[in-house]
Amino acid sequence: MKENLSPYPKKYRKSQQRLKTKKKRLSRKKKGSKRWLKALLSVAKQHKKVADKRKDFHFKTVNELLSKAEVIAHENLNIKGQALTRLSKSINDAGWGQFLTILTVKAENAGQKTIAVNPKNTSQNCSNCGKKVPKKLNIRTHSCPHCGIAIDRDMNAAINIKNRAVGHSVLKARGVRRGTGTAKRKAHTIPQG
Ligand SMILES: [Zn+2]
Repeated sequence: MKENLSPYPKKYRKSQQRLKTKKKRLSRKKKGSKRWLKALLSVAKQHKKVADKRKDFHFKTVNELLSKAEVIAHENLNIKGQALTRLSKSINDAGWGQFLTILTVKAENAGQKTIAVNPKNTSQNCSNCGKKVPKKLNIRTHSCPHCGIAIDRDMNAAINIKNRAVGHSVLKARGVRRGTGTAKRKAHTIPQG
């Protein structure tokens, strides 16, 4: 299930896998021994590699998003408030907080805008007719029995996010408050012109 939620490239996941292996190796060494110390350093180095790869991916994704649209809409997810749900755990893992910070700062510097919208039911509501279509997390297609539309689950949510963002007053929504523990799950670009 987590694989489905992970937008990260293979390279990143591989480096994470390597970290796991190194941690295992460390656990088998006698604490305090020379081999243990060596393994410990190796784990520390790999930790940094994983973090660097993640940050690199965040920057690349942000640049791509900002080059495609003037305004970026995203779900305003509060990690603190949802820390116990499985979904938000994955979000925490994926470092959305860091992603959102990079996005917000870079957008501001470029004179572009980010709009955080209420995430409630963005996945469940039909982006075509507005009716609620309950579905579990493992259902990846939004198939509406009311209007007949069938699209990718994330695409459906993205359209809902965009529509909510369009309903915002841009002035009111200008800038996302920083450091409030917000995170994003999906971003959708709004083409200009
Ligand atoms: Zn529908």
